[in-house]
Amino acid sequence: MTKNDLESLWDVVIAGAGPAGAIAACHLARQGRKVLLVDQIDPAHHKVGESLPGAGLRFLRSVEISLENLPIAHQPLFHQPIPGNISVWGAATPIYQDFLRDPDGPGLRLDRGCFEATLRSAAIAAGAVFREAQIGETVRKQNVWQVVIEGQQQVERARWLIDATGRRAVIARRLGAKKIHDPRLTAIYALGRAATKSPTTTRTLIEATESGWWYAATLPSGEITAGFHTDPERASTFSRDRSKWEVAFHETRLISQHYPKIHFDRPLPALDAGGSALDRVTGDGWVACGDAAQAFDPISSQGIFSSMVGGARAGAFVQTMLDHSDASASESATASAAYVSRLNQIRAAYLAHRREAYRSETRWPLSSFWSQQQSG
Ligand SMILES: Cc1cc2nc3c(=O)[nH]c(=O)nc-3n(C[C@H](O)[C@H](O)[C@H](O)COP(=O)(O)OP(=O)(O)OC[C@H]3O[C@@H](n4cnc5c(N)ncnc54)[C@H](O)[C@@H]3O)c2cc1C
Repeated sequence: MTKNDLESLWDVVIAGAGPAGAIAACHLARQGRKVLLVDQIDPAHHKVGESLPGAGLRFLRSVEISLENLPIAHQPLFHQPIPGNISVWGAATPIYQDFLRDPDGPGLRLDRGCFEATLRSAAIAAGAVFREAQIGETVRKQNVWQVVIEGQQQVERARWLIDATGRRAVIARRLGAKKIHDPRLTAIYALGRAATKSPTTTRTLIEATESGWWYAATLPSGEITAGFHTDPERASTFSRDRSKWEVAFHETRLISQHYPKIHFDRPLPALDAGGSALDRVTGDGWVACGDAAQAFDPISSQGIFSSMVGGARAGAFVQTMLDHSDASASESATASAAYVSRLNQIRAAYLAHRREAYRSETRWPLSSFWSQQQSG
């Protein structure tokens, strides 16, 4: 390789600058690695998922990322503490769960765009280069990746590639990995505003119904987010006719009581919300992390936290592989096996918790939704 070739060679290209990709970039850049982080950020896109548990804040403190450093564009808004949940699940009586009792303390209701901008800023401050684009084709030749940056007529070269593209797992699937899906779950969300100025609850509301479960919360912007999680067939009925979704929203007991008069003016596209995992999370010069490697049913409330931890682990794994690039095949295999084994442990614990949560709702023994979720 010539001097010029070496200078233009990235240690790592990371596809996706969500929580997993940004944290992986931050980790590797802090170790002095040459990191290119690539994502097409659309400020108009509303990313669903804004409840960060206290454990997520503990993780951010451990990697010295402060959510106080808000990017300028987001200054008027701020993340807000979540005092707890109110849920109707397993019985008609609401259960109050107070996060002050959580050893990690209350979590935060995020302004999600601002949160992700803060993580990207931390990666950039650590020395990563961020490029607004999409990653296209990737080809590996003589241990070097040729990575097409779409729309920029550019090909970047890298020693390692991290797939942090979320549930789509774009890179890993192109490289032959297959998705294993848990029971299918689709989420239909909308954003709205209360018709009156009366204060809304700051707690997260969760309510099980015969054909799925609802989530509702007030965002830091004052908007209300509400989503129904159900099987794909029912979800497509709601997608086609949003008025049916609104009727079902108003038929909830707990949620409609807290949000009696809402005008839903921003219907969001249907989302795949079921758990999934890749059959292969690493291969020759690549690794997947965050939702790309394994995604969780949102009832777990662990997605953002786990993706950040997963990004840090993938960063540490790639760092080890780069440090020992002349290691024997068996040493590399040991490092990959350790990464895979940790992910398998997390998935086993998640599946056990998920099963327990769905099996604790026994009010509708004839419901196909609940029996399907309980069988997974
Ligand atoms: C309905 C629903 C509700 C949820 N609610 C919560 C919640 O309240 N709390 C919680 O903790 N978690 C929640 N989650 C889960 C959480 O949002 C995810 O776990 C988390 O976003 C995963 O982070 P990630 O970085 O792995 O992937 P993502 O956040 O999905 O980021 C992936 C990034 O990759 C980019 N990308 C894709 N393709 C390419 C490409 N070719 N080139 C470059 N970039 C690319 C995308 O633009 C995106 O920015 C929810 C999920 C769902 C479906």
